[in-house]
Formats: sequence, C-alpha cells, structure tokens
Amino acid sequence: MSSEGISTRTDAKPDLGLALICNFDGLIIEVLWDDFALSDDLVGLSHFIAIFDPKSVQKGLSLFLYVKEHRVAFGWEINLTYRNRPVPFSFSAAAVDDRIVLLASSAGQDSSRIYDGLSGVINEQVNSIRSLSKQARSEPDATPASEDLPDQFSGEMIRDMLQLNNRLVNAERELARKNAELRRLSTVLSKDLYLAHRVLQCSGEAVVIADQNRRIVDVNQAFTTTTGFGKQEIIGTELMLCENSALEEGFVAQIWESVSTRGFWQGECSSRRKSGEPFPKWLSISTVPDENARASHYVVVFSDITRLKTAEEKWQRLAYYDSLTDLPNRVLFRDRLQQAILRAHRDNEALALLFIDLDDFKVVNDSVGHDAGDQLLREAAQRIASCTRETDSICRLGGDEFTVIVSGAHNEADIARVCDKLNTVFSTPFLLGDAEFHVGASIGVARYPYDGDDPDVLTKNADAAMYAAKSEGRNTSRFFSKTLGEEISTYVALRTSMTRGLANGEFLLYLQPEMNLRNGDVVSLEALVRWNHPERGMIGPDAFIPIAEESGVIVDLGEFVINEAIRLIRDLRNAGWPDLRIAINVSRRQLLMPGLPELISTRLTENDLPGSALIVEVTESMVMGNLDNVVHTLSRLKGHGVSAAIDDFGTGHSSLSLLRRLPVEFLKIDRSFVADADVSAEGESIVQAIAVMAKRLGLKIIAEGVERPEQEALLQQVGCDLAQGYWYAKPLPYEELLRFLNDRSKSSA
Ligand code: C2E
Ligand code: CA
Ligand code: CA
Repeated sequence: MSSEGISTRTDAKPDLGLALICNFDGLIIEVLWDDFALSDDLVGLSHFIAIFDPKSVQKGLSLFLYVKEHRVAFGWEINLTYRNRPVPFSFSAAAVDDRIVLLASSAGQDSSRIYDGLSGVINEQVNSIRSLSKQARSEPDATPASEDLPDQFSGEMIRDMLQLNNRLVNAERELARKNAELRRLSTVLSKDLYLAHRVLQCSGEAVVIADQNRRIVDVNQAFTTTTGFGKQEIIGTELMLCENSALEEGFVAQIWESVSTRGFWQGECSSRRKSGEPFPKWLSISTVPDENARASHYVVVFSDITRLKTAEEKWQRLAYYDSLTDLPNRVLFRDRLQQAILRAHRDNEALALLFIDLDDFKVVNDSVGHDAGDQLLREAAQRIASCTRETDSICRLGGDEFTVIVSGAHNEADIARVCDKLNTVFSTPFLLGDAEFHVGASIGVARYPYDGDDPDVLTKNADAAMYAAKSEGRNTSRFFSKTLGEEISTYVALRTSMTRGLANGEFLLYLQPEMNLRNGDVVSLEALVRWNHPERGMIGPDAFIPIAEESGVIVDLGEFVINEAIRLIRDLRNAGWPDLRIAINVSRRQLLMPGLPELISTRLTENDLPGSALIVEVTESMVMGNLDNVVHTLSRLKGHGVSAAIDDFGTGHSSLSLLRRLPVEFLKIDRSFVADADVSAEGESIVQAIAVMAKRLGLKIIAEGVERPEQEALLQQVGCDLAQGYWYAKPLPYEELLRFLNDRSKSSA
C-alpha cells in the first residue's frame, strides 16, 4: 500500500501505522510511518527528540498489530527520553480505515491545548488517509473501510479517547505489576521447593520422613546408599530408629520419650544394613509440628559413623598402646595393674609385678642408631612374651623399660623361675645387622600384698628392686625387701645429688702406686675416683659408679677424671718424676662414646704430654659383646701413644683369641686371685697360668691387691712385672702421694 501522499518520507511503512510526534505544546514535529526507530531526520525538524527504548518499540509494535486486527482504539504508555530525562508519554492508537492513527500525549501536562492542537492536525491527516484509502479501495485486494469512524475528530473526542487510553494504560500497568509479582512469587516458591527437594536428595546424611503414625513416607538417596533398602520397599513400613534388640528396647523407648516431650533427640546407636551387617550411626530425630503444634511428621537424619569409630579405635590404640611393640603403654599398664590388684584382692590371691630394664640398651642405641635400637626393643618384647603365660600382662613403660603383671597364686620360687627364664633368654646376644650385642635384663620383683597394695607403691618398689638387680651385676633379678627399700632411697638420693657434686667440685682422684717388681720403683699410678660428699663424707666409687653409668652422669664424671688425671701427671712429671705414667679407669659407656680418643689426645696436647703418659684400663666384661668397637677405640688411642690395660683379668671368661685381637700393653690379674695366691696351691697355679699365657701373648702383668710380702714373693717368682696393693700403698690423695714418692726416693738414694 502506498503512503507517499501522507508521509514526508519515502521509505515509510504504511503497514505499521501512522505516528505523530508532538511537543509539549501539541505542535506536531514529525509525521511518519515508522517502527519507532529513531529517525535522524527528526533532529533537524524540531527541538523535540523522542527516543524509544527497544522494549517500548516491541510493545508498540504488538499493540499496533492488535489494533490493526481488532479495529479498536487502544492505548499504552512509554517513557521517552527528552534531553536525558525520561518523559512519560501516553499513546493511543485507533483504526482509521485500514490505517492506524496514533496519538501521543505527555502525561501530567495540561492536555486540553494538546487535544485542540492535535484535533486539527489529526483531522487533516485522517482526511488524507481517507482520500488515500478511496484510491486504494479501487484496488482489488483493498481492506474494507471502517463504517463507524467519525467524520471529524473533535478535541473532546480526542480527550475522551486519551482518557480511555489512560485508564487502559493504568489497568494494564496494574495487571503487569500483578503479573510480575505473581511471577516473582512463583519463582521464589518453586525455587524454595526445589531447594528443599535437592537438599533432601543430595544430603550426604540419610534422611527419613515418617508420618505421625511412624510410617515412612519418604527417604533420600543417602538412606538407600547407607542401608541398602530401596525407596519403594521401605516406604509405608514402620520407622525403626535403632536395632530393636531386647537390650535396646528400653533405649528406643527413651528416644521416643524425648521426642514427644522435647521434640528432639540425638545420639549414637547401632543399626543393621539390609545385608544384615551392623553399623554404628549418629542419629537425630525431630518432630514437624502442624498448626496445632502436634507432631505431623518426624524427620530422622542419620549418618554412618563406622569410619569415625575406626578412627576413634585407632586413636585409642595410640593413646593406650606402644606403637613400636604393640604392647600396652604406661597409661594402660597402670589401669591393668589396678584391675589385677582388685581381682587378686577379691580372689584372695597373690600377684607379682616384674619390672624389667634392659642392660646397656643406651649403648646399643647410641652406637648403632635408633632403627637398630627399635629392632632390639621389638625382639626384647618377643623374648619377654616367650617366658610368660597368656594371662600375664606385658607392658612397655617407655624406653627400655618393660613390666609383666604375673597374676594367680604364686610362691616366690615360681616367680624366681620366670625371672630365671627371662635372664636365660636375654643371655643370648641380639643380632643387629651383622653385629652381636649382649643386652641383659635387670629384673625387679614386687609382690602384692607383701610389698604394696596399690599400683603406684608396687611399681615404685619393683623399680627399686630392678635398680638393686642392676647394681648387683647385669642380667639378674632381685626381689623387693624392706631393707632394699632403704638402700634404694639412698641410691636415688645419690643419683640426684651427683650432678650437683660434680659442679661443686666434690669429686677428686686418689692415686695408688704401681711398683716394678724387679727393682721396687714406682712406675705408674692408678687414678681412683672419690666423692667427698658434704654429708656422707668420702664415698668410694663402687657406691656411685653404677649410678653414674645408669643415669648418664658418667659422661661428665669421666671427662672430669680424664682432665684431672692428666693435670696430676703433668704436675708430678714437672715435680721431678718425668717418667711416671698414670692409669685411668674408663666405664663401659665412656669407652663406647665416640670421640673418646680425640678428647684424650686433645687434653694431652694441651698439657704438653706424650700419649705414653697415660694408660687406659678397661675390664674384660666391657670388651665382651663389643669387641669390634673396643678394638677400634683402643687402636685409635694407641695411635696417639696411649696404652691400655685389661682390668680385673680372670673374672670375665675371656678367650685367648679375644685377647690376641686387643691392642693392649698390660694384663691386670684380679685381686681375688692374688688374695689366694700365697695360701692355696690352686690360687698359686691360677696366677701362674695367667702369667704364662700373658707372657706368650707379649703382655706385661700387673698384680693388684697385694697385701702381704708372701704374695709379692710368689708374684716375683712367676714372672709378674708390676704389683699394686696395700702392701706398698693405699690409694692416696695427691699431697700424700708426693710425700710417699719423696720418702722412697730419699730412702733409695
Ligand atoms: P679397680 O679398677 O679394680 O681398682 C682397684 C680397687 O682395688 C680400688 O678400689 C683400690 O682401692 C682397691 N685396692 C687396691 N689395693 C688393694 C688391696 O691391697 N687390697 C684390697 N682389698 N683392695 C685394694 P676403689 O678405689 O674402691 O675402686 C673400686 C673400683 O671402682 C675400681 O676397681 C674401678 O673399677 C672403679 N673406679 C675407680 N675409679 C674409677 C674411675 O675414675 N672411673 C671409673 N669408671 N671407674 C672407677
Ligand atoms: Ca682399675
Ligand atoms: Ca681391678
């Protein structure tokens, strides 16, 4: 359909309708056939510019089509932007013939002038449309003209039309608002419902919903996964909270009681899967009240806590068991001992507590490392287990300390047999890598009810007895006794005061001369440590060396002895005896300490002394089980010029081959053999045998404990080189020794 006659524009689209755009004064600025897209031409035509947002264009278009189809008047409102300000505009459209007349007005303006202004223009336009449509009607496919269209539009008509339009616009606006609200509500609602459903289905916890008759109405996926029951087979069945065993009947009743009074219960209980497998669960149940606050539904939420329980058990194991040996630890031990005492009391039976401490374990640990140490502890635990009955309880208190609770009626002989068995299995050396280690077990025994009737006293006394066993020699056992108790308290007191004594300079060295049996010269001195205790007076080494060893103080004490001995021999050499040598006793622990040769050589150098000024005494028993280590240490000492002596020889069953391997200069015959040498034929032959053997090995012999001239004579006769003993001199403090040396040199001069 052609529109040239009306529009100022040639590209107008008559199908869409006629658009009139006017300014606030009702003056038409533009007449256009358009789809409301902004025409650039407009800018040039007037000071009024209308810009339609795309939504409005859409809406306008659909209304146009509606009006066109139904041939009625219709209105709507849009915002036009005028100088960056939104201006609400009402539009109305009416069908005129097969065209549409569009009227526009700005809302809130005094519109009568607009209407009047508009009417003229509209009439003019309508007439143009009419004349156009008359031409058009002659064409075969023309749309029939509307009959009831007035000939002239008055200002009144236009106002009515616009008022109608405004009402329509308002009604439509209200409708739209309500629609939007409805849409919003429905999305919110469906979102909530959806969310609730998702939460139920996706929850990792099993959810069961039951009605007020405790019939299941819904379950989620997690329920099926956990229990193995499908949704269909479980719906409609009775709600079971826990496994309904006879035992738990009361428990379940309690749960329901809490639910009905408080509306809620939660706790741990057990359940069974469809497969019959039981599992622990954490369950909470709450009621869903209706408007009258009565339970309408029950919501049960539970989760399978099997893994949690396993973790808890693991944790418990860690708390109560020693991870290395898998034996009960100190905490569980105390509890077990308490239980055992209660049982013994009830059954009127006796009970024994064995306190086991491995001998020289620290030495092994320090020399071969912790992994080997751990291996040894595990094997020790197995050895202990091999000597006890199933009913006895073995624990590891920590470190190298073990306990065995021997329950049942036992006399002393039975317990002693267990101890002997233990000492026997511990006499076999431990094989770590390719090295053998002799690690004995010192065992202390305390019995209920004789030695104590509560766990702490019994443990303390077994521990005390163990210390007594340790100081008596290794790999042995000892029963607790009242006198032992007293000994032990002194022992413990000494142990704590030793470090203080060392710091306070309470230790000193006595020196005992060693004489050349051929010419009577003093050739060397043995340094023997003493403790000048502030309360107890002078204490001999036998009373504190074992304690120092066991507590580790020996490291510091040993260093003191080395320093002091070297200082003393330097002074003596400077005082006129330049060839004197000094012998020091080293303990087992000290000997195995890495760095001992370096420490000694450093001190010698610091004091300007050759290595030959020093002799190191080690006992046979120290060598056994540690041969490689000892050979290594003594060889390094020898490298520094330091000689070694085997002390207490004859007491330790050492073999010839062992002696051959040791880089030593002297052999010291133990004083127990010397004591017998001049009174029994047997004593004499032993000393003689040792002397012959030593000579064959190229070793010098020192006899210790010489108290009588008869002994001296015999020793000279069998070819002993040196002698030491009260016959010549007791161990002497430095000043007294000086006097002794001076007296002798005067008398020989
Ligand atoms: P030992 O090495 O066998 O020392 C000799 C012990 O025999 C000394 O005892 C000495 O006083 C004693 N004695 C010497 N002559 C005679 C005698 O004619 N008759 C008798 N009956 N005894 C005699 P002491 O000084 O009590 O030392 C005991 C042990 O303590 C020593 O035995 C030694 O094993 C150890 N000891 C001493 N000083 C030290 C030290 O500085 N470090 C270490 N680790 N141990 C030491
Ligand atoms: Ca000695
Ligand atoms: Ca000795």
